[in-house]
Amino acid sequence: MERVEIIQLAYLGASVLFIMGLKGLTRPKTAVRGNQLGALGMLVAIAATLADQGVLDYKVIAGGIALGTVIGFLLATRVQMTKMPELVAMFNGLGGGASALVAAAEFYRQSGNPELAVEFTTATVASVLIGGVTLTGSLVAFGKLNGSLRDFRLPKHHIYNILVGLVVLGLAIWFCTAPETTWTFWTIAGVSLFFGIMLTVPIGGGDMPVVIALLNSMSGLAAAATGFVVGNTVLIIAGSLVGASGLILTAIMCKAMDRKLFDVLFGEFAPSGGGPDADEIYAGKIKSTSGDELAMVMESCRSVMFIPGYGMAVAQAQHAVRDLSNLLESRGVDVTFGIHPVAGRMPGHMNVLLAEADIDYDKLLDLDQSNAAIQQTDVAIVIGANDVVNPMAREPVGPISGMPIIDVDKATTVVVVKRSLSPGYAKIPNPLFAADNTLMFFGDAKKAMTEVTAAIKDL
Ligand code: NDP
Repeated sequence: MERVEIIQLAYLGASVLFIMGLKGLTRPKTAVRGNQLGALGMLVAIAATLADQGVLDYKVIAGGIALGTVIGFLLATRVQMTKMPELVAMFNGLGGGASALVAAAEFYRQSGNPELAVEFTTATVASVLIGGVTLTGSLVAFGKLNGSLRDFRLPKHHIYNILVGLVVLGLAIWFCTAPETTWTFWTIAGVSLFFGIMLTVPIGGGDMPVVIALLNSMSGLAAAATGFVVGNTVLIIAGSLVGASGLILTAIMCKAMDRKLFDVLFGEFAPSGGGPDADEIYAGKIKSTSGDELAMVMESCRSVMFIPGYGMAVAQAQHAVRDLSNLLESRGVDVTFGIHPVAGRMPGHMNVLLAEADIDYDKLLDLDQSNAAIQQTDVAIVIGANDVVNPMAREPVGPISGMPIIDVDKATTVVVVKRSLSPGYAKIPNPLFAADNTLMFFGDAKKAMTEVTAAIKDL
């Protein structure tokens, strides 16, 4: 067999491993194996690419691998679970940036060539444009997820976004038809970086998950475009897989949030002010409870739905929740988990945590199933969730306006477990805390769950 055939075969093998890896990732039980298959595919792809390029001096490459391994190892072992969403945002950004850099370097190398093929220029400009937007957009998302950046919008921000989008698109078409105008290429690179910031900086509340899923997809699309630039089959396939799965996730998020992608990116933003302030909503209406009182409430109930949110991730309370749910089930209580699609800080965040605690997947209800079941639920325990159960979403204006929520206020009794009355990600007060059927259990979610479990055992 010829060397070139062996390399192509290795690329094919790597692609099959990626697809098997993705399939594995669709179920909690096979996810670890799926991850390992994907990593093996990447190893095969890297080895085949090095052989393909006929690299003679491996010093720089070995240095890069060593540096990347050390950084990857440190991140994997040291990053707390609560920081994972930021890490994923950073990975997306770096992936997009790397793709853009490779394409830009290839263009720089070939820019003296008077006869650049249109396929090459199109792929190069697509890679730099998508990769540039992904890089800065993901950096902004990173800042917003760790709380160091706040939403910012100019008056008529959506009009500027449309204009910048049209400018960059116009420049891209110009460059593809006249690649000798190298200044257009470097201008596109600069404007793309600016465009990424403009697109993501105003987005907040319920729309952020859509943007994160989209950035994930774009990092794949940029890689696929770079695959065309450097003529690497496995990069095209791997990039397309990431791009397609990210697009599916974006569509799922849009559907779950009842939003259109164009409106999220280019739509006019609803005015956010004007609603009642926290003091007005909460004054004199908050009823707090204790572990002992809750144990008595739960002793006589027949159904409980846990609604987890970001606070459960912060407190790492999933194991304590599992212990309480097992105890309740052993006493004949019907236990379910209502999972909102954007609960937490990354798509699937709650599913991952609950799977880690070995909570049966069959007990997890999606948004529609939760809302269908909530009226027949005796006790809804909101554990570290806030925005995803905030009835302010039903109001016509505000940062989460129109976002579907889990209607926990329709359960017979609502228990909200959180440390204070402070708001969630969207930074707005929550009238649920002041509702007649709501009891507030103030404290760290893990400690609170452990306390209730102990109190039930003592009954
Ligand atoms: P929220 O961010 O709305 O609320 C989380 C609540 O958890 C806070 O109010 C906080 O209250 C409480 N909390 C924090 N630490 C603890 C702790 N140790 N113990 C108990 N409670 C704690 O979370 P939700 O999950 O309800 O909503 C997710 C939000 O994030 C949505 O607005 C969504 O749009 C956004 N988002 C989601 C993404 C995704 O992909 N899922 C990505 C980006 C944004 P207190 O401080 O009083 O304890």
